[in-house]
Amino acid sequence: MKYESTRGDAPVLDFSGALLAGLALDGGLYVPTSVPALSGDDLRALAGRPYAEVAAEVLWPFVTGSTIARDELGRLTIEAYATFDHPDVTPLRTLHDGVHLLELFHGPTLSFKDLALQLVGRLFEHELARTGDVITVLGATSGDTGSAAIEGCRDRAGIELVMLHPAGRVSEVQRRQMTTVTSPNIHNVAVDGTFDDCQDLVKAAFADRPFRQRANLAAVNSINWARVAAQVAYYVRTAVELGAPEQPVAFTVPTGNFGNILAADLARRMGVPISQLVIASNENDILTRTVETGTMEIGAVEATTSPAMDIQVSSNLERLLFDLYDGDGRALSADMTEFRAAGRLQLPAAVGQALAGRFDAGRLDVAGVAEVIADQYAADGTLVDPHTAVGLGVARRLRRDADVPMVVAATAHPAKFPDAVRAATGVEPPLPAQLADLFDRDERCAHLPADLAAVEEHLLAVTGR
Ligand SMILES: *Cc1c(COP(=O)(O)O)cnc(C)c1O
Repeated sequence: MKYESTRGDAPVLDFSGALLAGLALDGGLYVPTSVPALSGDDLRALAGRPYAEVAAEVLWPFVTGSTIARDELGRLTIEAYATFDHPDVTPLRTLHDGVHLLELFHGPTLSFKDLALQLVGRLFEHELARTGDVITVLGATSGDTGSAAIEGCRDRAGIELVMLHPAGRVSEVQRRQMTTVTSPNIHNVAVDGTFDDCQDLVKAAFADRPFRQRANLAAVNSINWARVAAQVAYYVRTAVELGAPEQPVAFTVPTGNFGNILAADLARRMGVPISQLVIASNENDILTRTVETGTMEIGAVEATTSPAMDIQVSSNLERLLFDLYDGDGRALSADMTEFRAAGRLQLPAAVGQALAGRFDAGRLDVAGVAEVIADQYAADGTLVDPHTAVGLGVARRLRRDADVPMVVAATAHPAKFPDAVRAATGVEPPLPAQLADLFDRDERCAHLPADLAAVEEHLLAVTGR
């Protein structure tokens, strides 16, 4: 498989190249030049297989033609998913009204991001062992990417990791999951600003070519293609478990940077019968507005109880747009430049229509989220985290067909966001055993202004580059 940039002006790479490149040199994101197909027989053959095997089968067409062999990929997926505390890795839970929760929070840091990052850390290490290179993974997090990336990369040979998070805007559990990791290759930075500021700093550091080369930067944000590819596996597996290819399935995904739902869209493009895909947003609803109006318009970031979705500029949307622009990187590049400059872009009419044809979208505000958490607990004793609650509320409102299973991506464990859960239910969701002493561990973190020069200087100092 070959990978090209969404802006049409960067070298074509193989999977390993795209894995290590992160953002393309032209400012675009890497996407595969074709979409592999899963036939009905391919899907049937996946039924009942362990998660790691399904992941290797689904990923292999994206990896093939690179330096990673099929048996190595199989070994890495087994290692990655052995860190999960549930034998099914991503179990389904059926609620009282027949809606399913896809529990994506059984990994080491309790969010769906572990599904991708436990594998990506191992893929990095595998590549670096082969080349003898040393990289600096630079990332920005609104909370959950940071801890998942840190757990995926801690103590791995050849990797230094610098993670930026917005100071005071991540939950205490999220912060401690990052700052209590004292492995020498892990460097946390609290930035005075929002998540979008952090993400802009990362993008600017990547755009600074001499710096990027000196630090040998690599990305672990959802701009990294390998993360999107790894996430396709659980959509394929869930659809198969619910009866695909014969039975179509619907998914609702609580959405921030558009990485998770992009993987669902990719599963559909590969041939999984997904008859409805719903984008669920909180008050930061640029995606929902774009689907409704065909115009992308950045608003101010509002803090909510689902902070991993407090995002206005969803990087991965560019990958979907590249497809909707029929692969015209130059047209997309011009429009993305206009969007960044003006904060607003009216999509070409055909693109807006195609977007609304592929996705439904809805929003749920903080009060609605609290209601969903309380109602679900009252109905059957299930505790859901606020991100999952956004998905659940929107899924119930927008479900089109009662004969099609509706699956909501449960993106975080309720104990990751205890304040919102406690406020809505009066119940304190307990942390799983491996994190029980989280509040007794020492923290280590630097604090910097939202300033590129300050971040670059700090990175070089702590990594010794
Ligand atoms: C990251 C995250 C999201 C948003 O996922 P995207 O891939 O950025 O759309 C939703 N919920 C939780 C709990 C998350 O950690």
